[in-house]
Amino acid sequence: MKTKTGPDTPRLSGLPSGEMATQWNLYAETVEQAPVAISITDDRANILYVNQSFTETTGYASWEIIGCNESMLSDRQTPVAVYQSLWNTILAKKTWNGCLINRHKDGTRYLAELTIAPIVDADGKTTHYIGMHRDITEVHNLEQQVKNQKNLIETVFDSMPVAAVLLNASLEKVLANRMYHILAQELEYDTPARLFIAILKNDLAGSWEKLRLTTGSFKNHEVRIDQGGHLPARWFECSGNWFIHDDTLDSFFGEPGENYLLLTLSDITRQRKHEESIRINAMRALIAEEEKTRSVREAIQGAIHHIHGPLNQLSAARKLLGRRADTQENQALLGIFDQIIVASQNSISQLEGCMPASLSHADESININQLLHETIVVLTDRLLAGGIVVEWKPAAVLPILIGKEYPLRSAFKHIIENAIDAMNEAATFKRELKIATRADNNAIHVTIEDSGPGLSPDLHIRAFEPFFTTRKNDKRGRHSGMGLAMAQEIINQHLGIIQFDPDYQEGCRVNLQFSLTPSGQQQQGLFNHG
Ligand code: FAD
Repeated sequence: MKTKTGPDTPRLSGLPSGEMATQWNLYAETVEQAPVAISITDDRANILYVNQSFTETTGYASWEIIGCNESMLSDRQTPVAVYQSLWNTILAKKTWNGCLINRHKDGTRYLAELTIAPIVDADGKTTHYIGMHRDITEVHNLEQQVKNQKNLIETVFDSMPVAAVLLNASLEKVLANRMYHILAQELEYDTPARLFIAILKNDLAGSWEKLRLTTGSFKNHEVRIDQGGHLPARWFECSGNWFIHDDTLDSFFGEPGENYLLLTLSDITRQRKHEESIRINAMRALIAEEEKTRSVREAIQGAIHHIHGPLNQLSAARKLLGRRADTQENQALLGIFDQIIVASQNSISQLEGCMPASLSHADESININQLLHETIVVLTDRLLAGGIVVEWKPAAVLPILIGKEYPLRSAFKHIIENAIDAMNEAATFKRELKIATRADNNAIHVTIEDSGPGLSPDLHIRAFEPFFTTRKNDKRGRHSGMGLAMAQEIINQHLGIIQFDPDYQEGCRVNLQFSLTPSGQQQQGLFNHG
């Protein structure tokens, strides 16, 4: 016998003798005992020989099957096209590999993984075929089960009501569900996972690496995404679960597998929006209350300021007169002066006693983007009434600031109101308010620009002085000239500075800068996405 690829293999007929016979016996025994079902047929697939494994696989003893056609094994379920391909291949003297549905002698069906190789003689004519097959029903069933399970998992994964993405050790996307792809479109971000990971890494700081190494998990970590422009802010609850998995050969001999992260992003925007609108309403009431208190304080401070002027002059005059207290007349005048001074000081004390106390506020974690956004919302009516276009450009990632939320908001509100007033009063054609935030290693920066008439450079410092104003006071007592002084005081209390940009020519630009303390105390290692 000679296969197409093994020219020296012995022929089936013409039995050898001597050493060749020993070799032949060895071949024969090897084939006989091979752990794969082997059959040798003539050129029409009539069976001439079967080995032990063939009998075990098919149930047919050699004496039952020899002389029969291989088609006897067919379950008649294999499509004709498969047989045609089989025969076309082996007739072309090539080896065929494939799967057929066979029927065991006891009638049970099994899936045969079959290889048929033609055996050619010295003239190149196919004289026989050798067939080798294995019952792979169990493997196939297992494969099918795995496939079904995979389909099931993919279907469940896809129909999850939250965006989910599986990332490998290099944080590259391995698998993502439908909601994740929708999220990518909505955020106009190809790989939202990268954006969330950047935020989570900052938020979780050292814990991130620890969780990754210990295949730990984190749950419901809230992330706010401020997309800027006309796109509304969105909130997500992020959960992540690290696990080790290996689908490569490396794990076959016990090599550790790869680290994977399953990240789920649950959109809680609707819930947060609802909470935000409640919060903004409460805030409006509080702002109104604070403004009332502030205007009373400013009116009293103004009155004290106005009493102080003449009082100082009176005190100076009294001093002069005191040096010439030689006549009786001057003594009498001094007495009157003293009475007036004491009365004035009493009035000041009384006025100070009437001053309403400003509300006290506790320190909390502040997201400046959120604060500015809420301030814009509170001022929406005034902005719309003035036909002012707002360009809101929040930083993608902004450190948390520890401070007093309400005073800081009222400082921002005052600066923005100044910009609105300036544009309204100048009746400029172009009415644009640009608010942007950004952060670097040292500080959080906020810029508030308006397209109004701007402020003369010589007033850039004076504008922060108490009672300095370029505007006439209105009926409501606004423009008392205390607003910027108050805003500066609040900003300074938050380790910040506020100044007018001397280089800005298009209107007025206020630059604010909040220092990040060297120890990182203020930020506590926490970062929040805009
Ligand atoms: P058939 O009429 O036998 O053949 C179906 C189609 O195959 C025909 O339409 C024709 O195109 C082609 N064909 C068949 N015989 C020839 C031929 N001699 N020359 C050219 N074309 C031909 N089949 C199994 O189902 N299970 C097996 O385990 C199996 N093992 C085989 C092992 C070997 C070594 C060989 C050579 C064949 C084996 N076959 C096996 C194929 C088998 O011989 C049959 O072709 C097949 O079972 C289909 O049988 P059938 O009676 O339905 O149709």
